[in-house]
Amino acid sequence: MTVKIRVDVKCCVGHARCAAVAPEVYELDDNGFNTTPYKEVDESLRKQAIRGMRACPEKVITIDDEDGR
Ligand code: SF4
Repeated sequence: MTVKIRVDVKCCVGHARCAAVAPEVYELDDNGFNTTPYKEVDESLRKQAIRGMRACPEKVITIDDEDGR
């Protein structure tokens, strides 16, 4: 299984917190913005992906089958 991650990149404001807590999952551009609208990562990275989702103050990250709390 894979973890399906969606990012509303238009609403990303560049806090870089997602990548700070989950560097293996979230990549940022040179200005600190998440510009990857969709990606799948291995199930082994699920906890890290969730941590990054919850760290985003703008709540622009969603993960299939997970809530944002
Ligand atoms: S924490 Fe949220 S707002 Fe900040 S860079 Fe990551 S996706 Fe964008």
